[in-house]
Amino acid sequence: MRNRGVITDKEVMGKYIDIDKLKEDQKIRALFKIFKKHIPLPRPVKLIIRKLALDDGMCGWAGDGRKGFVISVNKELCYNCKVDTIVHEYAHAITMANGEYDSEEDHDSKWGEAYAETYRCFLTYWPEYGKKPRLIEKL
Ligand SMILES: [Zn+2]
Repeated sequence: MRNRGVITDKEVMGKYIDIDKLKEDQKIRALFKIFKKHIPLPRPVKLIIRKLALDDGMCGWAGDGRKGFVISVNKELCYNCKVDTIVHEYAHAITMANGEYDSEEDHDSKWGEAYAETYRCFLTYWPEYGKKPRLIEKL
């Protein structure tokens, strides 16, 4: 007999990850993969979780920009702060990748639209805070 609403089949389970089994930084990396899948950028984007002296996070060009972007998230932040930061920084990567980045006003309306898109993606695909099964697609 099968449990209703519970994924027990090994084949199906193999395609999913139970996020409760991930450590906090693994969850941040998994969320980042979700963003890359659902909001793909025309250039590569890489995530680094490391100690930052002054910032919660950063998004910068890798070299001259042809190699894409690097998002850094301060590893000393609390987990929920890291989630907020990766959403915020991925929105910067979107505007930079689309040539819409304004260095004079980096949180302008274009960034706001990108932030909304990233936040909606988070709400749609990250099952941690809702009533959905806490499973994500293995990417
Ligand atoms: Zn910012």
